[in-house]
Amino acid sequence: MARMPLIAGNWKMYKTPAEAADLARSVVEGVRGVNGVEVLLCPPTVDLLAVGDVLGCGPVILGAQNCHFESEGAYTGEVSAAMLKAAGCEYIIVGHSERRQYFGESDQVVNKKVKAVLGAELSVIMCLGETLTQRETGAGWKDLISNQLAAGLAGVTAADMARVVVAYEPVWAIGTGKTATPAQAGEAHAVLRARLGDLYGGAVAAATRILYGGSVKPDNVKTLMAEEHVDGALVGGASLKAETFVPLVRFAE
Ligand code: PEP
Repeated sequence: MARMPLIAGNWKMYKTPAEAADLARSVVEGVRGVNGVEVLLCPPTVDLLAVGDVLGCGPVILGAQNCHFESEGAYTGEVSAAMLKAAGCEYIIVGHSERRQYFGESDQVVNKKVKAVLGAELSVIMCLGETLTQRETGAGWKDLISNQLAAGLAGVTAADMARVVVAYEPVWAIGTGKTATPAQAGEAHAVLRARLGDLYGGAVAAATRILYGGSVKPDNVKTLMAEEHVDGALVGGASLKAETFVPLVRFAE
């Protein structure tokens, strides 16, 4: 089954609502007429309504960067998946390495969040990836990412996998300018797809999109996307300007 490429921008903690709306307008303008690529913008929570107004019912869709795993409650400062859905989100990113590193999110927390997003009938982008030390200590990194995948998806049914996107983001390549080579990305994605096959069977594994994230830029997107198992990109830095994000969406041209 052909997998529709997904190019997602993670704006992290950048842009006020007015700046975010401006950037969204430029992206919408820049990607007009592109077919066969799903385009997702994930601004900070406070910008969602402003960006949602710009996107309307157009082809560029809205997502959030994180959510709480409970549906509501006394969790000061948090938002639920259902709230993000009501704000217009179709996707929620969970398990980003910055959440794991700075907010102590374990695979178990990531798993609860994955289930919360699916329970709210949204799609989830579940991030995972090894650190530099883990990569440098030999072949163990393959088991590590494979185990992150299985732990994050514990209890997720094959039917729900239609709304799961996996993002392989080697921590050593995020925001560092060091991109994994296409071959390195391809190797890691093949490991993940094989594990998806063990967990859910070949059909689900073949249908599940696996994005690459880590210093994706206009000058490397094409070779990364040429890898058989790379189905799109989760983009940080280069998503903050239309001049660098639009060419990523137009990678095939
Ligand atoms: C990210 O934050 O998911 C990311 C991949 O960042 P960057 O593109 O800046 O490396």
